[in-house]
Amino acid sequence: MPRDFLQNARDRYDVIVVGAGLAGLTAANILGRAGRSVLLLEQHYKLGGMATWFKRPGGHIFDISLHGFPYGMVKSCRRYWTAEIADSIVQLKNIRFDNPMFSITTTFNREDFTKLLIDDFRVDAQAVNDFFDTARGMNFYDDQGTTTRELFDRFFPGREDVIRLLMEPITYANGSTLEDPAISYGIVFSNFMSKGVFTFQGGTDRLIHLMEEELKRNGVDIRINANVEHIDCRGGRVHSVTVNGRTIAAGAVLSNSNLKQTIFNLAGEEYFDKKFIDEARAVRLNNSSTQVYMALKPDEQIDESTGDLLFSSTAPLFRTELLLSRDITSRTYSFYYPRTRPQGRPRCLIVSSTNARYEDWADLPEDQYEASKRDLCETTLDALDKYVPNIRQRVDHVEASTPRTFQHYTQHLAGASFGTKFEGLAVSRAIPQQVKGLYHAGSVGIIMSGWLGAMNYGVIVANEVDNALMATARS
Ligand SMILES: Cc1cc2nc3c(=O)[nH]c(=O)nc-3n(C[C@H](O)[C@H](O)[C@H](O)COP(=O)(O)OP(=O)(O)OC[C@H]3O[C@@H](n4cnc5c(N)ncnc54)[C@H](O)[C@@H]3O)c2cc1C
Repeated sequence: MPRDFLQNARDRYDVIVVGAGLAGLTAANILGRAGRSVLLLEQHYKLGGMATWFKRPGGHIFDISLHGFPYGMVKSCRRYWTAEIADSIVQLKNIRFDNPMFSITTTFNREDFTKLLIDDFRVDAQAVNDFFDTARGMNFYDDQGTTTRELFDRFFPGREDVIRLLMEPITYANGSTLEDPAISYGIVFSNFMSKGVFTFQGGTDRLIHLMEEELKRNGVDIRINANVEHIDCRGGRVHSVTVNGRTIAAGAVLSNSNLKQTIFNLAGEEYFDKKFIDEARAVRLNNSSTQVYMALKPDEQIDESTGDLLFSSTAPLFRTELLLSRDITSRTYSFYYPRTRPQGRPRCLIVSSTNARYEDWADLPEDQYEASKRDLCETTLDALDKYVPNIRQRVDHVEASTPRTFQHYTQHLAGASFGTKFEGLAVSRAIPQQVKGLYHAGSVGIIMSGWLGAMNYGVIVANEVDNALMATARS
């Protein structure tokens, strides 16, 4: 008999959360804490979604998306999770850039960037301050017609080097480009500039384990290997979900699955009006990513001056097209020293990430796909040798992931690393007006993605679900 992952699950809950990414986990926690009966359904055998890790022989643990997030995570984790989680967030102090235009090390905050821009890049102090103030003053309701390129041209005309310094890390952090609305840049950039870049001490495995414990304390019923096939929206309101062949009813369903997957595959377009469907269809997915995971032999150490995060590029100029090309010129290296997991075996690991297009990998026949992955590993080792000399002799384990890997594990269409482009946010927000009781929270619109964005979006939507359930109970 196959194992029943829904054994003893009830027939009805106040809320069903579909997907245990950071938005789904946080929403489930808020609702559980508010006293709602919550069923959290995750199709994978692990919680976390993109916030995940994997183990390899030799005591190596690789983090997939633990490269850096803004300080705001401390406040969000303290409020919506636990003090233990919040207190485990630590700063990454050595952020490096190395490209044909400049090589610098920074703490990646406003103070240090101001100093660099004025002293090293020789930019006028007034322009630097005005730029920071403008970026920090941006909010969601601002003009969305101005692009990031226009914002830079206003303050730093003709300065490709300055644009590279300001933009390259954010493109990496949320997939946004010079052509995207300036607010999708300004909000994320300012979040980082407030205090720098942070990480979770103990690794993603420890974070997700602590979250799971807290969810259980709050009474959330968590089920893994539970693939939701359908959300029943007949008559314009949510009734139930079908999961592993079983139907479970709920007062509300909050989907943390990809936005388009939620509308077109889980619910079904017949339950939404035509204008909404046209808008949903027009939402662009964000790009995906390739990664190369490298673990050093147990006795091999890397000098910490190598940096925590290193934005390296051999391209003469910063261009979105170059960042996505299969002919890789830009790699962002994350260095994980033994202090990442002080409780574990002392290991040094490196993850190299490059933005990528799903189409470049999707239809490769299996032999070509495997050969391309091998080539990705080899060219990455070649490039890394500049920063970690003799890497080939020192490395214990190397493997690569591609856009296909991310799609496979999270069901994100096209393996989108950061959900959708900006227009996805309005569509996500409008879902409950189309189908009563159906909600979406998860990576959309650049701002609401990344660890902090996804988590905070989960909070916003959980509060809306709670209010709606309260209103229904009163009526
Ligand atoms: C390579 C990479 C590097 C990244 N680096 C960073 C970084 O350094 N800093 C940062 O802040 N962010 C980073 N991100 C982005 C960040 O990880 C994501 O934005 C965030 O984790 C997404 O959270 P989410 O809540 O949107 O859900 P997701 O993580 O997308 O999870 C959705 C969940 O829903 C589940 N699901 C989907 N469909 C179903 C279904 N039908 N039934 C049941 N379950 C379902 C999936 O299995 C998954 O667990 C990175 C992402 C990638 C891919």
